[in-house]
Amino acid sequence: MDHFIYRDGVLHAEDVPLTEIAAQVGTPFYVYSAATLLRHFQVFDESLAWGEHLVCFAMKSLSNVAVLKMLGQAGAGIDVVSIGEYLRAKAAGVSGDKIVFSGVAKTREEMKIALEGGIRQFNVESEPELEVLSEVALSLGKVAPITVRVNPDVDAKTHAKIATGKKENKFGIPISRAREVYARAAELKGLDVVGIDVHIGSQLTDLEPFRLAYRKVAELTEVLREDGHNIRRLDLGGGLGIPYTRSNEAPPLPVELGQVIREEVGHLGCEVEIEPGRLIAGNAGQLVSEVIYVKEGEDRRFLILDAAMNDLVRPSMYDAHHDIDPVIEAEPGVEPETYDVVGGICETGDTFAKGRNLPPLKAGDLVSFRSAGAYGAVMASEYNSRPLVPEVLVQGDKFAVIRRRPTYEEMIARDIVPEWL
Ligand code: PLP
Repeated sequence: MDHFIYRDGVLHAEDVPLTEIAAQVGTPFYVYSAATLLRHFQVFDESLAWGEHLVCFAMKSLSNVAVLKMLGQAGAGIDVVSIGEYLRAKAAGVSGDKIVFSGVAKTREEMKIALEGGIRQFNVESEPELEVLSEVALSLGKVAPITVRVNPDVDAKTHAKIATGKKENKFGIPISRAREVYARAAELKGLDVVGIDVHIGSQLTDLEPFRLAYRKVAELTEVLREDGHNIRRLDLGGGLGIPYTRSNEAPPLPVELGQVIREEVGHLGCEVEIEPGRLIAGNAGQLVSEVIYVKEGEDRRFLILDAAMNDLVRPSMYDAHHDIDPVIEAEPGVEPETYDVVGGICETGDTFAKGRNLPPLKAGDLVSFRSAGAYGAVMASEYNSRPLVPEVLVQGDKFAVIRRRPTYEEMIARDIVPEWL
């Protein structure tokens, strides 16, 4: 469910017409619906209400401080994968005891900042990381709370670039070696082993891989407890998929995932954490763009937009589909036209959609990419020296720019020309 709807023929985010934001902010821009973000967080929170839990928003999907602040105020924890993300979460007022730190490449410096600033737990991804983290913690006179991320070798049945739980993936330690790794962790004086972590991939549209992974985690919990470890927290990752097309079969709902979690690990008496990103942010955001030209090719018609792959990379990176809606609703009965929808970057890969049926459009018309809230703005770049795309947050009838578009001068001023040139 989201709060992007046509009213009087104009696409709105909650109560704000997208045309109004476009007039003030210029295009392209990302727009997020506060009500949708909060609703998605709440459905996860409710899905785990049967036990002690914390929903940690995976901010890699959408990392704007205003969004983090809003979710933090609603009670969310945050899953971070770099110290930059950690510092953003802190800037949003989220306390360290609600921040979990994932990622395979944590540096000593990052560990130090997180330990000094407060951290709920590190999700450790390798044996060398265990040793280094213990050393860093001891050097600060601290003990680092940790889980070990286990790789359960489960096929998440998702796009290869976002599957993380197979043995060939770089994430976690093989579950078959978990006992010896936990034994080593328990020996290290700078660590406090609090639980187990697992995350098998993103955009999962089937509950079975989750069930398989959680079952393995439950078995491991029993084994590790027998080995003497005080396993009291399970971080079960993110990954629940969203519908990217209206015609798609709907992926499972958070409440169904919550039920699977309850069935598989509920009997263990552990606190449960989950780390959803896409499901909270994906359908809470859209990318609005203006048509620059309609160009007749030899065998096709190109819709050339002012947004490009640097603003939304998912189609070129993952062959991802985004529904595209005209901001001014087509009159009923209008015959669609077929377009290749492209941006202005000098790459053939800068193609958002091929052979897409849309109502007839012309230069100056606005279109909106649906389901762009997650892995959209966060992956934007300034490739082709196009200033970073701005972000706008809507709540009811008000909206605010929560990241402004840099000026060309600001963009260029970051470069430093050495004096010897
Ligand atoms: N947790 C970890 C460790 C991740 O790597 C990711 C993303 O891949 C997530 C959570 C969030 O996944 P999603 O956005 O699919 O919910």
